[in-house]
Amino acid sequence: MTRPTIRDDLATLEGYHSPQVDVEVRLNTNEAPGPPPAGFTEAVVAATRQIAWHRYPDRSATELRTAIAGLHGLYPAQVFCANGSNEVLQTILLTFAGPGRSVLTFEPTYAMHGHIARVTGAQTIVGERGDDFELDVTAARELIAAQRPSVTFLTSPNNPTGIVESESTIRTVLGAVADVGGLLVVDEAYGQFAPWSAAALLDDDTPLVVTRTYSKTWAMAGARLGYLLGPAWLIDELDKVVLPYHLDSMKQAAGLAALEFIDDMEAMVASVVEERGRIVARLQDLGADVWPSGANFVLFRPPGGDGAAVWQGLLDRSVLVRNTSGWDRLEGCLRVTVGTPADNARFLNAIAEVLGAPSGAETPS
Ligand code: PMP
Repeated sequence: MTRPTIRDDLATLEGYHSPQVDVEVRLNTNEAPGPPPAGFTEAVVAATRQIAWHRYPDRSATELRTAIAGLHGLYPAQVFCANGSNEVLQTILLTFAGPGRSVLTFEPTYAMHGHIARVTGAQTIVGERGDDFELDVTAARELIAAQRPSVTFLTSPNNPTGIVESESTIRTVLGAVADVGGLLVVDEAYGQFAPWSAAALLDDDTPLVVTRTYSKTWAMAGARLGYLLGPAWLIDELDKVVLPYHLDSMKQAAGLAALEFIDDMEAMVASVVEERGRIVARLQDLGADVWPSGANFVLFRPPGGDGAAVWQGLLDRSVLVRNTSGWDRLEGCLRVTVGTPADNARFLNAIAEVLGAPSGAETPS
């Protein structure tokens, strides 16, 4: 058999990988530290009994979109839901990118933005950040004016750096994007851990969308649910592109049920933010370079700069963090997700041991 060949432009594309290893403490994929409250599972079970399984789901996910809109003080027509924010991003790019168009990212950032853009056949443009991973807004404006990308991404807080873009940065980039008739996507997968949201800048006359996920703050990575907030006219266009009935009835019910537990979610976020402070302080004590994080993870460079060796040392102690040490622009760095207080204590004690520092005998705070 002659195997069918894939598209020429995809031949060199690499898949997105996040290897999982069997360990006791898993702090590598930025998930929530624990499951949603028991009441959530019960609410989902109860909702499941009401589902008309022989019917297609509500194609416009009216109840869910109305509830999410309420959360953000918007109208249901300004909300678009899909299977994880990755599918939201894919739908944006299928609609606004594609062959003959370009997509701008500022690196380092979430690899899927560029990856999905290439899958749609768009050209990717890479903007650089400074050594401290901050965006140089003047250079960003110039790049946008020169390259005229159809879609520009900012991730705030950024992954893998954790850095939150300021309102003035977002406004400046948005102005430059609007001048060239482009769209600015602010990916706020970690938005609830940060002090402010670009959702405050949304309106129907601004080429801005903000994407969010249930995977982190709502502790529902297993459900695959994400959404976009943006102009109603733009969501009408996305609705033409996404597959009919893409969001199943059960997921719509689960997404609605979660919103009844907002107090639990906020308590979890507060605890993660507090634990993040503890991790940052201890890593600094240990002599690591640590970037300020507004997310549920922390990027750091261990003293000595041999991130790969430290990563292995942690793994030998059954603690898994993300090994970003070989990634472009992140030489020697590691990214640790904030876990439960007990997991964080395990991580901090293990890294102190790997670095040969006197163990602070960290205990869960
Ligand atoms: N955006 C960013 C910045 C992320 O880090 C992630 C997940 N790691 C996603 C989007 C995708 O999230 P989801 O689970 O909603 O597809």
